[in-house]
Amino acid sequence: MNYIGAHVSSSGGLEKAVLRAFKIQATAFSLFVKNQLRWNSAPLVDEEINKFKKSCIEYNFLFNKILPHSSYLINLGHPEDNLLAKSRAFFIDEMMRCNQLGLCFLNFHPGSHLNKISEINCLSRISESINIALENTENVIAVIENTAGQGTNVGYCFEHLFEIINKVDDKSRIGICLDTCHLFAAGYDLRTKKDCEETFKKFFNFIELKYLKAFHLNDSKKKLNSRVDRHNSLGLGEIGTVAFEWIMQNNNFDNLPMILETINSKIWKEEIIWLKSLKK
Ligand SMILES: [Zn+2]
Ligand SMILES: [Zn+2]
Repeated sequence: MNYIGAHVSSSGGLEKAVLRAFKIQATAFSLFVKNQLRWNSAPLVDEEINKFKKSCIEYNFLFNKILPHSSYLINLGHPEDNLLAKSRAFFIDEMMRCNQLGLCFLNFHPGSHLNKISEINCLSRISESINIALENTENVIAVIENTAGQGTNVGYCFEHLFEIINKVDDKSRIGICLDTCHLFAAGYDLRTKKDCEETFKKFFNFIELKYLKAFHLNDSKKKLNSRVDRHNSLGLGEIGTVAFEWIMQNNNFDNLPMILETINSKIWKEEIIWLKSLKK
């Protein structure tokens, strides 16, 4: 069984996100658990938590098929100590919110060196940030998303993902989410079956299957190795359709939440129906 959905809006309340996911025939979904563009959000209250949990149960969503996405403000590899501390506190707050909501994961972009420190220094700051977050929270697995390598983002290659995980103490609460658009933009080809096989062979040379927790299924507006993060609807970008067929038909990825972050939310339902149809 595959669990497929999209990153739905939580405007009007977190439980609204659940209904939006249900309406597009999703069996998984992603959402922001707090305003992703503001540093301060009010704490979750019991009523909100209960409404969210009740909706998930009512619409048959499993809590381990929901992949909350962390705020874009967070940089767990920040070169400046005060802003690193701020990011760490914010991340811990998000991890706690996920736990309150009964969620199992928090998906996040690893961080950026901002040309002030080396990539390797940035990566070790990220591992340290994760260690601090895991020590100060319970249950929730921190899920690193691979990046397109845009700007000064780290995490665009499998070596980086390995390096981060390697220095995390509690390996039971760390994982990876692979974004297909980011893979492609970072230079990992996915256009043919052979490309997919080679890319995932490389991935599994660095990362064990048990760490792979989710996918973001997106086509790319930009060319291979562009290092530019521009999503497109499935099959309408540079990647094409083969990669999505290949991923859906690979039994290693059964049970992982697969989330669309494609640009046209009006066709999410169609995209989900198409993805489901690919499963043999
Ligand atoms: Zn993301
Ligand atoms: Zn993504």
